[in-house]
Amino acid sequence: MNIILLGPPGAGKGTQASRLEAERGMVQLSTGDMLRAAVKLGTPIGMRAKAVMDAGELVSDEIVSGIIGERLDMPDTESGAIFDGYPRTAAQAQALDGLLAERDRQLDYVIELVVDEEALVDRVTGRFTCARCGAGYHDRYKQPKVEGVCDVCGSTEFKRRPDDNAETVRTRMAEYRAKTAPILPFYEEKGLVRRVDGMADIDAVGAAIDAILDSGS
Ligand code: ADP
Ligand code: AMP
Repeated sequence: MNIILLGPPGAGKGTQASRLEAERGMVQLSTGDMLRAAVKLGTPIGMRAKAVMDAGELVSDEIVSGIIGERLDMPDTESGAIFDGYPRTAAQAQALDGLLAERDRQLDYVIELVVDEEALVDRVTGRFTCARCGAGYHDRYKQPKVEGVCDVCGSTEFKRRPDDNAETVRTRMAEYRAKTAPILPFYEEKGLVRRVDGMADIDAVGAAIDAILDSGS
């Protein structure tokens, strides 16, 4: 099964993708994570992407579709891919159709996490991750069970993203509204879109997604 999780920054895509990965053996394909890894390594793509990401704008369609294509050639994705943060433009949606068709794969669902924009600044500015294993947390909504210790790997080092500040989040939301939300009709026409209330608590959002994936319709 291949699915897209669609929603603005802070909607909960990464949180749900990690859970699906752990519980269903699907593979999370987050272009944001891939780009951050490229920035950290200082690759040519990372060097081109850094300033754009720091400003909250979108990296070029060619770059992100290129890295998704390479990732789809790795055999682990054959057990099912969760596209998280991709596609973000009409050109990327078209490119993904081609990338999947070339590999005899298809999309099963596009799950839109419907959220109230005002809540997102709070979600994003309170977000932090484990510096060792990448597990995601929130200052109020998802605290580690033992304060200062990662639930998953026990590390005591955490980090925050440089673009998770109130000002950049506004730009990222505007990019979502202008360029990403308009791809929904493309998937509506294919009958793939399912909506989930992303304002519910994390477990309830997960249960709603599971119900869709298990429904077979
Ligand atoms: P996205 O990948 O869509 O940008 P994340 O999954 O990283 O969003 O979630 C953003 C922040 O909000 C994280 O700190 C996460 O712990 C928290 N979060 C995710 N889903 C919910 C939810 N349903 N309710 C409250 N907080 C949430
Ligand atoms: P994310 O981790 O999904 O919030 O993405 C962080 C940043 O990476 C975005 O603000 C963009 O600058 C860039 N990015 C991630 N995915 C894409 C994409 N599919 N298209 C363009 N830019 C992207």
